[in-house]
Amino acid sequence: MEHLKQAFLTHFNYEPTDSFFSPGRINLIGEHTDYNGGHVFPATITLGTYAVVGKNETQNLRLSSLNFPEVGVITVDLNDLEFRKEDNWANYVKGMAKYLKEAGHTIETGLDIVLEGNIPNGSGLSSSASLEILAGIIFEKMDGLTLERLDLVKLGKKVENDYFGLNSGIMDQFAIGMGEKNNALLLDTNTLIYEKIPVELGDHVIVIMNTKKRRELVDSKYNERLAECQQALKELQTELAIQSLGELDDATFEAHKNLISNDTLVRRARHAVKENQRTLIAAEHLKAGNLEAFGKLMNDSHVSLRDDYEVSGVELDTLVETAWEQPGVLGARMTGAGFGGCAIAIVANDQIDAFIKNVGEKYEAIIGYPGEFYIAEIGDGARAL
Ligand code: ADP
Ligand code: MG
Repeated sequence: MEHLKQAFLTHFNYEPTDSFFSPGRINLIGEHTDYNGGHVFPATITLGTYAVVGKNETQNLRLSSLNFPEVGVITVDLNDLEFRKEDNWANYVKGMAKYLKEAGHTIETGLDIVLEGNIPNGSGLSSSASLEILAGIIFEKMDGLTLERLDLVKLGKKVENDYFGLNSGIMDQFAIGMGEKNNALLLDTNTLIYEKIPVELGDHVIVIMNTKKRRELVDSKYNERLAECQQALKELQTELAIQSLGELDDATFEAHKNLISNDTLVRRARHAVKENQRTLIAAEHLKAGNLEAFGKLMNDSHVSLRDDYEVSGVELDTLVETAWEQPGVLGARMTGAGFGGCAIAIVANDQIDAFIKNVGEKYEAIIGYPGEFYIAEIGDGARAL
């Protein structure tokens, strides 16, 4: 924070008055289910995005990110909030301001904001949702808004969907807005009813494994998978009275999958249905303290994402499949949208060093460049500091 305050003073010649933090997230299980009306099971991590803020007596936002020094200070007129490519990362902040205004809130306080994150960008830990929600809580406090957290979460999703054109679900913003230290959120994305479940791993930790491969394909593939699932749903609806794939159990799906016109669509829908069921069972295992059973379902989740949903890739598969071979590992899977980004593993405390060494060496030997490893700590959701 001292570092951020110093940068603020250098940029703007006065001291910031307020500071904020918004985390990143991992998803324990339940991947690509959130836009299919299924369940997800994310938790907020202690990596995140920090901001210091002051009021500047104008109608402008002046924005600087220490992660993008080459971009410099971006000036945004609060009366002109259309998406502009040249505004770079500031579009996340502009999008949030625009949709808060459209929701009837008054956003007219000129603000200076310096921020910095330690979530690796584009690695599936959701630095973009972290930034959206960060912007939301900054406006909430600095403009004195009365705002339900869930409404802010929904506006964050709208920024991704409508402002950036990425058809992602509500998981990331929900986790970041609602997250709680040492808990994961079992969220029904259909009803937005959720349950906090303590993540008690005893003598194990969650290791995040970063492929360091930027998920370049992810935007177009996201939209493609959404379209495939919608098509499969439409074909199932010729005989089934359902609104989403998340409403189906395995048996009903198996009994009706012949309604779906081709094998690719069957596999996509099968992932959405089975991953949802798996997530519900996995949450029960975690509650009961049965980490072995939880880990096995993580492995099944990865296989389904690799083979049926086809959103993994050689980098993620190498990390996860190598993790499976290591002693003391209860389970491992990709986390986030896929095509690169990060995977997670549940690893015994006394095996962490050997795990990182072995997986790291094999990854570099096969892929040609090193990955990165972090121990995940589950922290609180977005907040003013
Ligand atoms: P992910 O959400 O998986 O990290 P995205 O590609 O969705 O990856 O979002 C990354 C983008 O979010 C960055 O390219 C940048 O535009 C924005 N962003 C995230 N963190 C920061 C930050 N600390 N400063 C400025 N922009 C950021
Ligand atoms: Mg993102």
